[in-house]
Amino acid sequence: MKLGGIEAGGTKFVLAIGDEYGGIFEKTVIPTEHPEITVPKVIAFFEGKGIERLGLGGFGPIDINQNSKSYGQIQNTPKTDWVGYPLGAALKDSLGVEVVIDTDVNVAAMSEAKWGNAKDVDSCLYITVGTGIGAGAYFHGQTLKGLSHPEMGHIKVARHPDDTYKGTCPYHYDCLEGIAAGPSLEKRWGKKGHELAENDKVWEMEAFYLAQALTNYIYILSPERIIMGGGVMKQQQLFPLVRHKVLEMLNEYVSSPHLTEAEIDQYIVPPGLTDEAGIKGALYLAAT
Ligand code: ADP
Ligand code: ZN
Repeated sequence: MKLGGIEAGGTKFVLAIGDEYGGIFEKTVIPTEHPEITVPKVIAFFEGKGIERLGLGGFGPIDINQNSKSYGQIQNTPKTDWVGYPLGAALKDSLGVEVVIDTDVNVAAMSEAKWGNAKDVDSCLYITVGTGIGAGAYFHGQTLKGLSHPEMGHIKVARHPDDTYKGTCPYHYDCLEGIAAGPSLEKRWGKKGHELAENDKVWEMEAFYLAQALTNYIYILSPERIIMGGGVMKQQQLFPLVRHKVLEMLNEYVSSPHLTEAEIDQYIVPPGLTDEAGIKGALYLAAT
């Protein structure tokens, strides 16, 4: 089937034509600006290409309830230009195709389960640590949804004893996203994430926060694999630090061979699809 896919992020939109098997025939990236600028560019890319359906993996909060009148509408995001924007309806009306909507992280979890680093298991969690923090889950063929979609980036975590930074989240200040996403690293330490690579204290504190979150997700969801992506995770040294702290925090409470020194390297892993997890997931979603 010829499908359209959109990975709608806070800084960029990735647009692709492809199929439900992970094939990508054409792809482009445009910046996320005001919807009146970005959406016409999205429509122009897909128009006349003969797509049968469109999948959208969007930044949240976004209404993903198919029975809701505001399905596909952006909700209370810090990206204020987009609050209330009916993204799903605008695309459906202009392109005349069915638009299927889920979160960017849910579709990334789905495509990692299909083709990436979780294809050998039945459940996984995908967490992105970038401009924001969000996580999606794919369990036994379904992404995790309920009242709305999970908001795993906004949980509370215990403060590192050396951290006095107040946090960037406009809703909660020092939730996980508020103290551990890329912008908070930059504000706390006064440098961009990639310029902090040599500062061990930065990554020890970052791992302390991320490991608490992962430990909570393991207790609540019990995923068979955890995939960590997003710009901040480009700091590869975070992986061993996070794995070590997760084991320390669990303190052998959850009995699983995967939660041991011997196997944790295969349990908490980077994305297998590198930067294409989101867009391939959006294409797969279009066919569902
Ligand atoms: P988005 O979340 O908008 O999809 P990214 O996942 O690329 O985009 O995240 C961007 C954030 O990640 C920025 O805050 C940036 O400072 C941070 N970041 C990007 N690259 C690196 C890096 N190599 N090391 C540390 N932080 C990085
Ligand atoms: Zn928050």
